Amino acid sequence: MAKRNGSKSVTSTARRHAAAPPAAKTRTSAKKVARKSAAVIEPKNQKPKAGKLVYYFGATRTEGATTMKPLLGGKGANLADMTSIGLPVPPGFTITTDTCALYYKNGQRLPTGLMNEAHKNIALLEKELDKKFGSNDNPLLVSVRSGAAVSMPGMMDTILNLGLTDASVEGLALATGNRRFAYDAYRRLINMFGDVVMGVDHEKFEHAFNEIKKRHNATEDTDVPERGMVELCEAYKEVYRKAVGDVFPQNPFKQLELAIEAVFKSWEADRAISYRRLANISGLNGTAVNVQSMVYGNMGDDSGTGVAFTRNPSTGENKFYGEFLINAQGEDVVAGIRTPKSTDEMSKWNKKVYDELMKIKSKLEKHYTDMQDIEFTIERGKLYMLQTRTGKRTGFAAVRIACDMVKEGLISEEKAVLRVPAGDLTQLLLPSFDPAAKKSVEILTTGLPASPGASVGKPAFTAEEAVKRAAAGEKVILVRKETSPEDVEGMHSAAGILTSTGGMTSHAAVVARGWGKCCVAGAGDVQIDAHAGTFTVKGKTFGRNDTISIDGSTGELMAGAMPTVTPTMSGDFAKLMKWADKYRVLGIRTNADTPADAQRARDFGAEGIGLTRTEHMFFAEDRIKAMREMILAEERPAREKALAKLLPFQRDDFMGIFKAMNGLPVTVRLLDPPLHEFLPHDTKQQEEIAKSLGITLAKVQQRVSQLHEANPMLGHRGCRLCITYPEILEMQVRAIVEAAIDCANSGIKAIPEIMHPLVGTKKELVTLRKQTEDVIRRVRDEHQFKGRLDIKIGTMIEVPRAALVADQIAEVADFFSFGTNDLTQMTFGYSRDDINSFLPDYLKQEILDKDPFQTLDAAGVGQLVDMATKKGRSIKKDLKVGICGEHGGDPASVHFCHKVGLDYVSCSPFRVPIARLAAAQAALMNK
Ligand code: PEP
Ligand code: MG
Repeated sequence: MAKRNGSKSVTSTARRHAAAPPAAKTRTSAKKVARKSAAVIEPKNQKPKAGKLVYYFGATRTEGATTMKPLLGGKGANLADMTSIGLPVPPGFTITTDTCALYYKNGQRLPTGLMNEAHKNIALLEKELDKKFGSNDNPLLVSVRSGAAVSMPGMMDTILNLGLTDASVEGLALATGNRRFAYDAYRRLINMFGDVVMGVDHEKFEHAFNEIKKRHNATEDTDVPERGMVELCEAYKEVYRKAVGDVFPQNPFKQLELAIEAVFKSWEADRAISYRRLANISGLNGTAVNVQSMVYGNMGDDSGTGVAFTRNPSTGENKFYGEFLINAQGEDVVAGIRTPKSTDEMSKWNKKVYDELMKIKSKLEKHYTDMQDIEFTIERGKLYMLQTRTGKRTGFAAVRIACDMVKEGLISEEKAVLRVPAGDLTQLLLPSFDPAAKKSVEILTTGLPASPGASVGKPAFTAEEAVKRAAAGEKVILVRKETSPEDVEGMHSAAGILTSTGGMTSHAAVVARGWGKCCVAGAGDVQIDAHAGTFTVKGKTFGRNDTISIDGSTGELMAGAMPTVTPTMSGDFAKLMKWADKYRVLGIRTNADTPADAQRARDFGAEGIGLTRTEHMFFAEDRIKAMREMILAEERPAREKALAKLLPFQRDDFMGIFKAMNGLPVTVRLLDPPLHEFLPHDTKQQEEIAKSLGITLAKVQQRVSQLHEANPMLGHRGCRLCITYPEILEMQVRAIVEAAIDCANSGIKAIPEIMHPLVGTKKELVTLRKQTEDVIRRVRDEHQFKGRLDIKIGTMIEVPRAALVADQIAEVADFFSFGTNDLTQMTFGYSRDDINSFLPDYLKQEILDKDPFQTLDAAGVGQLVDMATKKGRSIKKDLKVGICGEHGGDPASVHFCHKVGLDYVSCSPFRVPIARLAAAQAALMNK
């Protein structure tokens, strides 16, 4: 039962992250924004051309545009776009994602004509930059990078310095006047090309580098002199030759061809496939390939490279948030190997560059009207933009940025509502550590607050270990020096991530934020010994069995399991919800079985209860005995006697819920699960119950075996119980009506709706409706109640047959509520309790796109929902129709419910805000 009905319980405080509420905007601001945005620089309206494989961007011409993301990938489209609006972008060209698809269609062969196109575009670059590919004078060098339509941080391979050969390396030395630099670039190319394109083990290059370092008494890479770099290139070429069985290619076009192919191949690499699966990315063509002329951040102390977000991606604060390294290449920042400086310190280093970067930041935000994630390089004091894309952000940041941008006049309220992914609100509803409890514990160390959240678990030291232990039900925190794309499965399985190096833009930080997973990065005091399975901090050692707590909002690490507190909805979060309510059409109810849950849901904006599962009320210690007595009774009078004991409990339960929902409708579902679920299955407990009821153990065991069903989900449950045992209905309906009368007498407006589960034929409902009405009448008369008692009687639609004959059922139902958990189970024929034995394979092989128990299967189950709604309303025009399966809180399913015209969705209390936002987005998108 727990598995079937478990509502997710999440808590936290959003207040910490909420900005002071800015003054309310009126709807006229949207118009102002539209006028304003007309003033921003728009690139020419470029259009894709059929069959065109390559798109150039540069001063000569720019063929792509930001609208072409599916074709050029996010990176390619935005490089073209940035060039068009006059930003300093090194010129280059993009090979389309269609070409990648063709490559796979051709049995992994580059399409004919592609390399011809590449030659032509290289020629354009040569002309524009006055350099020559492979020349021994002033060579053109390029980077080759992947870039899909949806960003996949660190998932695909990059090759830098391509075009260097034994001849052109001397040309680079000549052109830069820096031979050491030229050979450093060459050895990086041989290493990257060997590793990424030819699959040479990186360790072999490392080994060769260590030998050279030893020979030159160098501790750091940077200590190796020019001669050492030249020797290193020779050593690397030898490593390459031995591993590949051929010499390192000396024709730059051969290098380019192989590199392009390697990028295409990386699209189907295991880590890329895993990332797409974990991030729910499907339906893409492939990756684009960006070939871009190189600029160098490692040409000395007047050069550098960095990455930045135009606003804080963790909190959303409107403050440029970046990191950079002086005299370094881009990979050094992203890989989290060297800990970078904050861009706040940049103006001290080079004020002119910093000011230009700030200007570009404003231009980009105005142009894209969203927070951007940028990469830049400074080559000898000149700034170049290498990338811009919509920045990944936490749920907290998404809400704050959307609200701030409305205030700043950058976007309209509607856009703000559409901007925040509804599912990301979960993060604002997650637990946070209790500040009071924090005061009394020792903070072991403070790293970077890379991704908010409060995580408690035991350390796991490798991704594989995290996956294994999490699958076995353990809560683990992945503790690593840093993470790499190979670790994504482990990162996903872990409750939180703790790293000891790397900054806010390291792999761990970026990926964790994208998923809304708690992450503390760069906790430098943490000394990890992965081999021993321990880490040490402040002289204390923690192993696999020690529990730790990490706070992703503050970067703190603590020993033990810290207690957490419940969230509240305030500030920007509340404001966004208010906007959402303005646009949504769907009503939002909640599934709640206790007054506390009902209250919480109401605080989150629920407009009623769509499902109270009464069975949960029978498990408490003071009730389960009477319940078991009822089940074990052989005759109706004995059952009634037991039920009479349950009546006052039920009445109190309903009173509490009606009070919490004063003035709002409450749909109460009568008993649903098969009765065996209430009986103990182990002998010891069976003995206890026999003793307490004064019956024999054999009697209990006989009843347990009598109630045993091979497939209980299709068995004696739902409305079938009350057909067999009408006294159960009698007790439950009596409890509901008595509670409603008590409420009315004490000034509380109870609006109960009685719902019969698992109805499949009209006659079931005819019978049950009559009994329900009889009890209502009787109780009313007994209590001589004269006030209004307008109790609706309806049914769940969760058996496919009910959907098929919904018009007949509607004749005797005041409302329908789709129980899409059971409807999915019975439509697919998948047991909801056992689907995990094969679902992972179905998802991996893409037989199913999504778990149909999480996201409503619109094509199949959805058809039944749509049809039943139409059939029901063909009989009763105003039939109220809602959904109360788990899908009611899933954004994609909420969109579906909006489209088919349901009246409301009902979901667990913590998903109420998500459903509110998703409903508004559905309304705005279908306007
Ligand atoms: C359903 O089947 O969708 C439903 C809400 O009922 P339960 O999950 O309790 O079976
Ligand atoms: Mg059900």
